[in-house]
Amino acid sequence: MATFKDFRNNVKPNWCPGCGDFSVQAAIQRAAANAGLEPENLAIVSGIGCSGRISGYINCYGFHGIHGRALPIAQGLKLANRDLTVIASGGDGDGFAIGMGHTIHAIRRNVNITYIVMDNQIYGLTKGQTSPRSAFGFKTKSTPEGSVESPLSPLEIAMAAGATFVAQSFSSNLKQLTELIEQGIKHEGFAFINVFSPCVTFNKINTYDWFKENIVDLAEFEDYDPSNRVMAMSKIMETNGLLTGLIYQDTSRKSYEDLVPGFKKEPLVNQDIRLTEEDFEEL
Ligand code: SF4
Ligand code: MG
Repeated sequence: MATFKDFRNNVKPNWCPGCGDFSVQAAIQRAAANAGLEPENLAIVSGIGCSGRISGYINCYGFHGIHGRALPIAQGLKLANRDLTVIASGGDGDGFAIGMGHTIHAIRRNVNITYIVMDNQIYGLTKGQTSPRSAFGFKTKSTPEGSVESPLSPLEIAMAAGATFVAQSFSSNLKQLTELIEQGIKHEGFAFINVFSPCVTFNKINTYDWFKENIVDLAEFEDYDPSNRVMAMSKIMETNGLLTGLIYQDTSRKSYEDLVPGFKKEPLVNQDIRLTEEDFEEL
């Protein structure tokens, strides 16, 4: 049985020392091992950005795609080979700006994959511009007088899009992050996990200390019920999206691939994928 060390490769990440993405890498490796996977069972697809490099830093199948397009690739991969565990990953710029259309529709489509966003409230790879997650008034090279746009709330958007699994964590909390990723992998449907992953080089506002002071953990609320959609939405709004933990999970809804009429349950790889007369009758 594989351990997290089997998911390590010999590629040295070129993230800045202290970047939150290191913890996400470690958490994925641990979660994959804890979920009983072997490296050949896992594929990681990523978009463009500092965080997009993660697909090359884990010993498994990897696909470093194009900007904002990790999700179409990841969904295609899963539908072609249902035996693979597929993780899509990227940053807040990748997933919530150019890729937002894909994010919303992937959430509502509910293909059985896990999507991990490394949310640092900035564009790091291009050296620090305002992202869709940057706070109102946030000053960068692209908004020297301060951003006049409101940041979007990925958790509210995920809930509104009909997500069946919504979680949020923080790079400093490796234990929680690992557990949530493992739960996401095991969830039968689309699992959305937003991770506060500080950019220590360009974001001097949303630092590790800032998150430690402002995050509210769901463990503080004894009566919190993650199967209650209204409660989940209320708590997201009450905490201004700064809560961590398993926020919502609906285990009653079937995944996309379990609902599409005529969809072959076996991997499509090396198979004749033309529809048969039987398939048409089902349709
Ligand atoms: Fe991480 Fe920011 Fe450095 Fe990119 S620029 S590697 S996001 S710390
Ligand atoms: Mg970013």
